[in-house]
Amino acid sequence: MKNSVVDAIGNTPLIRLKRASEETGCEIYGKAEFMNPGQSVKDRAGLFIIRDAERRGLLRPGGVIVEGTAGNTGIGLTVVAKALGYRTVIVIPDTQSQEKKDALRVLGAELIEVPAVPYKNPNNYVKVSGRLAEQLAASEPNGAIWANQFDNVANREGHVRTTAEEIWHQTEGRVDGFVSAVGTGGTLAGVGEGLRGRNRDVKIALADPMGAALYSFYTEGVLQSEGSSITEGIGQGRITANLDGFAPDFSYQIPDEEALPIVFDMVQNEGLCLGGSTGVNIAGAIRLARELGPGHRIVTILCDYGTRYQSKLFNPAFLREKGLPVPDWMEETPQIDV
Ligand code: PMP
Repeated sequence: MKNSVVDAIGNTPLIRLKRASEETGCEIYGKAEFMNPGQSVKDRAGLFIIRDAERRGLLRPGGVIVEGTAGNTGIGLTVVAKALGYRTVIVIPDTQSQEKKDALRVLGAELIEVPAVPYKNPNNYVKVSGRLAEQLAASEPNGAIWANQFDNVANREGHVRTTAEEIWHQTEGRVDGFVSAVGTGGTLAGVGEGLRGRNRDVKIALADPMGAALYSFYTEGVLQSEGSSITEGIGQGRITANLDGFAPDFSYQIPDEEALPIVFDMVQNEGLCLGGSTGVNIAGAIRLARELGPGHRIVTILCDYGTRYQSKLFNPAFLREKGLPVPDWMEETPQIDV
């Protein structure tokens, strides 16, 4: 029994990924973060950021939590905030999926959509959220805080203390590699730090989508990006505070053409309906498996549930518009007479 929804965050199962394992001769497992109450890995960051602010005495009952987010962190923060008696004001780039925006509104977040512009632009969603938090801190009767997931290391700490520890215990210490994409870097650096703390031989790998700058940073020392990706919630252009001091053992650049067929295969053949970032993660896990060779055990993150992207990733018209291949089954209608 759980005292509240907050206690239902974490302790997600590790699920064996059949095809990825069989193709590589490794055991590849996905941590089912879509099973969190807010249906993504970001519930953990939401919880740790709010608990950290409470411990520091920054949050008063009825206080406001402000955040700039691709959606999932906003959902995680709002689930926790509602359970603990706070409000959330969420700033989201208008390019993010309608389903995430709808979920935020349903959950009771006060949602502000802004045009998607690069981080260096003062009107970038992260910067807008920071300014708004400052304003609301002065005007709201119960005060306001900025969650600041990118540079608030309570995010990373949540993964050191929970995700990494869970993986370690669930595998009974038999884990050879961990792979993750990066949005804030909380997951990659946090799980990486936690697992290396348990066994310094565990190999940690970055799976970077096209359009992100970390692959070039960790392989050549320069932040540089090329191409683009339809994945959401990942693709970082700078070294956030959550990434600071961390370096992966291996880095892979994963094009959508490699990641999306994996997402489509998972839903058709393994009953796992997942978002695009998970495709990048599993593609990265397959690359690490090939790097390490058969017989190794590799863990990655199943970041969020696929229905969150029904209007994009699972929409033939959207895929076609982006020049991406559309799987046949997506357009077939059942041939059953009734
Ligand atoms: N996948 C999705 C769908 C996400 O929303 C996020 C978080 N932005 C991530 C992956 C990456 O997680 P992190 O912020 O811990 O790097």
